[in-house]
Amino acid sequence: MRAMEIQCSGCGDVTLVRAEPVYEGFRKAGEAYICTSCGKRYATAEETPFADAPKKPQVFSDADRETTVPSVFDGAERQHCCGWCRHMVLNPFGQRCGVTNRFTDATDLCEHFEKRSC
Ligand SMILES: [Zn+2]
Repeated sequence: MRAMEIQCSGCGDVTLVRAEPVYEGFRKAGEAYICTSCGKRYATAEETPFADAPKKPQVFSDADRETTVPSVFDGAERQHCCGWCRHMVLNPFGQRCGVTNRFTDATDLCEHFEKRSC
């Protein structure tokens, strides 16, 4: 919840408003602002008498907030590890790299990586 200063037209005080999401059905349609002093409700940010009268009361739009975090790895990068390498040798004692002959984990990254064809 965000709180902002307004010059309330209901009680005349410089006080705080709290933003309340407004829903149309299940979709968030916008925000209403409610005076914490007298409870006067402003239906939109435009109607709300913000005290410092910012031109843009919201730095970030709802669209910005709801942006999903981009995935760091795409599918190709995820498979760029020893588990997907054609040099990976599996035997009863463990798994090792056929190039370096060292034991590896399936998640290791290796400079000799060559993707398995299957
Ligand atoms: Zn008020």
